[in-house]
Amino acid sequence: FKRQRSSFTLGLSKLNQLYRAVILDAAAHPHHKGAIQSPTNEMTLHNPTCGDTVNLQLKVTDGKISDIGFTGDGCTISQASASMMTDAVSGKTIAEALKMAKIFSDEAIGKQHDEADLALLGDAQTLTSIMQFPARIKCATLAWWALTRALENDQKAGGTNND
Ligand code: ZN
Repeated sequence: FKRQRSSFTLGLSKLNQLYRAVILDAAAHPHHKGAIQSPTNEMTLHNPTCGDTVNLQLKVTDGKISDIGFTGDGCTISQASASMMTDAVSGKTIAEALKMAKIFSDEAIGKQHDEADLALLGDAQTLTSIMQFPARIKCATLAWWALTRALENDQKAGGTNND
């Protein structure tokens, strides 16, 4: 565990300084941390390689994410990512949120989208630079996978396919 932590610090020091500041700030003061009132969708995912857990709760009203919150513990990257993801998808439709999750997951493994797609992610796009550190990719994508899993049943039920 100690070794993992020191290699992580080394990795972060290589990140662009601005990105690092944004990520550390999001982890220190996460947005939407905590359970929400009467969630309609929920998903808990674990990243066993790092020990991260994200329990995501959403409230979907009229096809849009009207409330979102997360609980769970994990490393700086996983916490920062959950904070940025919840900020990014608040108020979005299910189709928009699923598209954003796809863009993020693609970018995190080096599959590039255009500028307009990246801009949809807001601050979360800073975390796509995690592709430089393969060991941290699961930490960064955990919250986005939880979002996809929590929403995909609704998507099927709604019969909408934006692909
Ligand atoms: Zn992690």
